[in-house]
Amino acid sequence: MTNPETRHITIIGAGLAGALLATLLARRGWKVDVFERRGDPRVHGYAGGRSINLALAERGLHALRQADADRAVLDKAVMMRGRMVHPLHGEPQLLRYGRDDSEVIWSVSRGELNVLLLDAAEAAGARLYFDRRLESVDFDARVATLLGDGRAHAHRFHALIGADGAGSALRAEMGRVQDLGERTEGLGHGYKELEIPPARDGDFRIEPNALHIWPRGRYMCIALPNDERTFTVTLFLPSAGSDPSFETVVTGDDARRLFERDFADTLPLIPALEEDFDSNPIGTLATLYLDRWHVDGRAVLLGDAAHAMVPFHGQGMNCAFEDCVALAQHLERDADLATAFAAFEAERRPNAQAIQAMALENYLEMRERVDDRDFLLQRELEHLLAERHPTRFVPRYTMVTFRRMPYATAFERGRVQRELLVEATRGRDALEGIDWAWLDTEVERRLSPLPVES
Ligand SMILES: Cc1cc2nc3c(=O)[nH]c(=O)nc-3n(C[C@H](O)[C@H](O)[C@H](O)COP(=O)(O)OP(=O)(O)OC[C@H]3O[C@@H](n4cnc5c(N)ncnc54)[C@H](O)[C@@H]3O)c2cc1C
Repeated sequence: MTNPETRHITIIGAGLAGALLATLLARRGWKVDVFERRGDPRVHGYAGGRSINLALAERGLHALRQADADRAVLDKAVMMRGRMVHPLHGEPQLLRYGRDDSEVIWSVSRGELNVLLLDAAEAAGARLYFDRRLESVDFDARVATLLGDGRAHAHRFHALIGADGAGSALRAEMGRVQDLGERTEGLGHGYKELEIPPARDGDFRIEPNALHIWPRGRYMCIALPNDERTFTVTLFLPSAGSDPSFETVVTGDDARRLFERDFADTLPLIPALEEDFDSNPIGTLATLYLDRWHVDGRAVLLGDAAHAMVPFHGQGMNCAFEDCVALAQHLERDADLATAFAAFEAERRPNAQAIQAMALENYLEMRERVDDRDFLLQRELEHLLAERHPTRFVPRYTMVTFRRMPYATAFERGRVQRELLVEATRGRDALEGIDWAWLDTEVERRLSPLPVES
């Protein structure tokens, strides 16, 4: 058994958040032990992960900068300037995310990112233990039991941090000693991953610097580029109760029929459609809400273990990375762990709730609204207002993706801005005739200037 010490943290889960937090704490002189149920991906290859690539945005990048890991990650990332929307009929169109290439997001491989962060954690002095699955916790004796190599291992801890993802075993154990107020809301939609391989000449088959979307009302496909010149395609469908859904699209042949009808331009791009569809599992999507994230100073949750969300804002990992920076800061500020964990929860929980809500709203926007005329008119006006009032009117997507203000602030300001856009465009199909004097006054009245971010 290891001896408990103060400034000693045990992290459960060496996924994205666990590995980053281990790096941040070890670099500050904490003694850090990390237990991961899977094998070491640097030895065995990357085994798991529900999505193969992820969109990294400013919040996540900023957190990686704190661990000096940003450059190495960006070296392997593919820039995405905007959404390339593929309508059912007509030409694809790029809707830029930001003003220019200073406002872009990055497609990163989950496996490569994880490996890079594990190296960083180890280099910083964290001790990593693989093939160790948390099984149970005795919070009174402060002993965690981990299974691996065919036997149980007892580990004495000072405090536990749950970075063990949406199905967190630590959360379940914490729930046995304290009511966490846990509830999970399923989305009723699932997903399947497919692949666009490189072209014959080894290049990308479609525009690489974009996040591609094929919006189709109640369902959609998206594709993100990988640095090996493939794209990971994700098909999102209702789980049941309508056609198409995963109840009616069951086999690779069903998938081909759906793609022939609704995603015809992707068919020549996905040569192994049937095989991918038949062999890949259906992923489920849900939002996890908790009223409490910690058990006094003995355990705290972060990342997906605390607030799993649907992936439609591309912020789950970004938010988890922000959690890591915030927790490391609170642990430095407060020697008392219970106080630090409570302050961390107070800071992060309202923000997690805000991005969870925005992620749910974004699903509707991506699958139904990106090619809708009202939406496009409002977006046009949004751009103009952002130019006229750069410190006050900042599109919500920009606030979430390219800035680091609290998510809750972005959510609230986004609500006010949407009201303005709807009021100003009501009954119009073009921007001519907009009452700019009224609109400028209302922007100044309803939206305070935002502080400049360092
Ligand atoms: C389809 C999809 C697309 C997504 N796209 C994006 C995106 O574009 N951008 C974005 O920011 N986010 C995205 N996300 C969300 C992102 O994947 C998660 O928010 C992120 O992985 C959370 O990191 P985590 O470290 O908290 O959890 P995880 O990455 O799930 O890591 C948890 C780790 O804990 C380990 N573990 C689990 N149980 C135990 C146990 N009992 N004992 C020991 N170890 C254990 C696991 O093996 C794993 O290594 C997406 C999610 C999905 C499902």
